[in-house]
Amino acid sequence: MFVTRGGGVDNPSGMKLKSLWEQTVAPLRARLDATDYETWIEPMEPLSASAESVEIGVPNRMFAAWVEENFLDELADAWVRAVGRRAQFRFTWRKPPAQGELFKNPADTGAVAVKPLQRPPLRGSSNGLLQRYDFGSFVVGPNNQFARAAAMAVSGQPGTLYNPLFLFGGVGLGKTHLASAIGHAIVEESPRSRVMFLSADAFTNRLIDAISHNKVQEYKNRIRRVDVLIIDDVQFLAGRDRTQEEFFHIFNALYERGRQIVLTADKFPHEMQGVEERLCNRFGWGLVADIQAPDAETRVAILERKAAEENIDLPLDVAKHIAERFDANIRDLEGALTRLSAWASLNRAEITLELARTLLGETSRGEKEPPTLDEIETRITTHYGLRPGDLQIRRRTRKVSEARQVAMYLMRVHAGASFPVIGQHLGGRDHSTVVHGCQAVEKRRKCDPRFRAMLETLSRSLGC
Ligand code: ADP
Ligand code: MG
Repeated sequence: MFVTRGGGVDNPSGMKLKSLWEQTVAPLRARLDATDYETWIEPMEPLSASAESVEIGVPNRMFAAWVEENFLDELADAWVRAVGRRAQFRFTWRKPPAQGELFKNPADTGAVAVKPLQRPPLRGSSNGLLQRYDFGSFVVGPNNQFARAAAMAVSGQPGTLYNPLFLFGGVGLGKTHLASAIGHAIVEESPRSRVMFLSADAFTNRLIDAISHNKVQEYKNRIRRVDVLIIDDVQFLAGRDRTQEEFFHIFNALYERGRQIVLTADKFPHEMQGVEERLCNRFGWGLVADIQAPDAETRVAILERKAAEENIDLPLDVAKHIAERFDANIRDLEGALTRLSAWASLNRAEITLELARTLLGETSRGEKEPPTLDEIETRITTHYGLRPGDLQIRRRTRKVSEARQVAMYLMRVHAGASFPVIGQHLGGRDHSTVVHGCQAVEKRRKCDPRFRAMLETLSRSLGC
């Protein structure tokens, strides 16, 4: 089977790529709220598909990374259900355009048309390294200075200085990035070195696969031949006795031959429960370096670097706001920036402090002012995937009327606005329309748990 954007060229079922894709995203449409769906799923455009792979056009690299991390498994499973066989997803995007052009389309409908001009694979080649995670893109701060120095030292003299290098730290603090960077630096320095980067999960799954095909020895030999073995998230070896046993032997074999081993984990070696003592001991033989949460300056520097990479025009006050709001995890920090820039380019809006506040919410610290009517309005239009101003115009689609009534209700409840003021704000509607709207929402809130949950989510995102 081969299908293209034009239609089902050679497809026995006669099904077009577009409708296959619609089936693929259907579960996400059902699961996600409107904003997330329209921010992340709608902009993807299926470009072509063959029996083995599907090519999807996306706005930019960060978008691809986000989708890959958050939705790829679900998409891949839904694709299997729609098509009947598993395929690899490939994302393509254009060179970073100037801001505001990310989603440009000649008809100006807001729909997305992405033409792949270049095709950088998101995953690196067969060594498993993640392509964009190198030292060049790693921002140094007091929180990661030590780990980075150790990583660079290991890259300069693999197998001799610190073996193994054990990097540990909380979720989203840069362990995978740094471990990959070591691999890249070594390959760059000596292109013939054999580097293998594997998550502990992948290591386990491949081992299970090898066991079931009677190829354990082959698998172990392949790993023993590498010069550098990087295993990410070794805490996932916990409780897997057979995997630990095999890993123990691989570790020893590599170690004895002076091959570099790099490990990452979310805990200190001896705090990993369910991992054998003898392994934990070995994990501590070389150097154990931790990565802490970044301070505010480092967070701002990371945001600025990402914004520059993606050609996003990010004012300093907005960077500071995001950095204050997301202080524990760099992945969330990046996610916030991606979300903000995707929304801004979809809506042809500039990235401003006000937009950031509305979209990402306020900081949790300090006394909170009640939200303004504008904030509520923006939050609702975002949530329902509407355009600014849609609540004011006299459109009567079900989605717009529901959104408008929810806005009325939240303005009444959270901003304490009077019915006439709300009516005025929402395009000059009269007092009785607002009363009716608030009552309708209240009634539905009482009997529809999903609707109630949505109201609660909206309220929380408004800081109420
Ligand atoms: P972990 O493996 O610790 O959970 P990751 O390495 O996956 O974290 O990092 C999460 C995200 O944050 C990645 O996109 C990574 O590029 C980014 N990141 C983490 N630390 C830094 C840093 N110091 N400079 C730039 N980006 C970083
Ligand atoms: Mg990681």
